[in-house]
Amino acid sequence: MKPLILDSALGTELENRGEYLPSFKTSIWSAYSLIHNPEVIKQIHIDNIEAGADVITTSNYQATPELLKREPSAPPYEDLAKRSLELCKEAVIKTGTQTKIAGCYPPIHVTFRPDLSPNEKKLRKFYETLGEVYRGEVDVIICETMASIYEGMIAASTAKKFSDTVWLSWTTRSNKLNRLPSTELLDLAISEGLKLDVDCQLVNCVHADTASMAIEKLKKEKSFGIYANSSIYKKNKLEGFVSDSDEWHYHNHQPITPVDYKDFVIDWINSGASVIGGCCRTTTDHIKEIKKVVEKL
Ligand SMILES: [Zn+2]
Repeated sequence: MKPLILDSALGTELENRGEYLPSFKTSIWSAYSLIHNPEVIKQIHIDNIEAGADVITTSNYQATPELLKREPSAPPYEDLAKRSLELCKEAVIKTGTQTKIAGCYPPIHVTFRPDLSPNEKKLRKFYETLGEVYRGEVDVIICETMASIYEGMIAASTAKKFSDTVWLSWTTRSNKLNRLPSTELLDLAISEGLKLDVDCQLVNCVHADTASMAIEKLKKEKSFGIYANSSIYKKNKLEGFVSDSDEWHYHNHQPITPVDYKDFVIDWINSGASVIGGCCRTTTDHIKEIKKVVEKL
């Protein structure tokens, strides 16, 4: 079976279209557009479908109860989840396609900061509320950028109650290339994911070449996927130890083009990946390149 193509980075697409996109660390980031200009998000979905995406993901990544505290006038996260689902549905109807919809299960707090995760009760309540929105409405629930085994397992086990298909995506964006931001080994995270019998385990929001390093671990899973950033690891001199995984990533970061990205995609597919897409700094041009590869299979 041909690999499924996921869509490109929402934040990057918003930025490229001149939308206001403040820092994800201190603001509600892409949720600002979800609240104030949802039409642009619908157009991004449409453009991704036309570029070749088989699966589009709901745009409520940053619309979580913890992050929305930053915008007291923002609608509740469940309302934003419903809105983001409607935008996906409208894009699918508008394009007259059978594009699948992935309901997003994001980290509840700042990305790459598992130390900020709340207690299990709060986390389950969040994922259950999203699950009620997605039940019967999405083709898959995707747990994205999971930065600790704790959060990944709570997200994926909750997702299984609400969707027949669950994907669990870890990030190895850390100051060790084979570890999650929690410092736990990716290998261990995948072993834990296997116990839950999810449908696919993935790696996202890492350099493309770092993602390639994860393949041998990901192969333990019956189905695996990758949606990396449009960059490769380039070691730079760092003054002392950098504990902030995001800062560390950008210190050691070299952008690549959509055509460069395609070469990684070919490797991932040849290694057996069944889901491929793009995370930060990828655009619909990346999706078009992936589509060219998949069409030739
Ligand atoms: Zn990313």
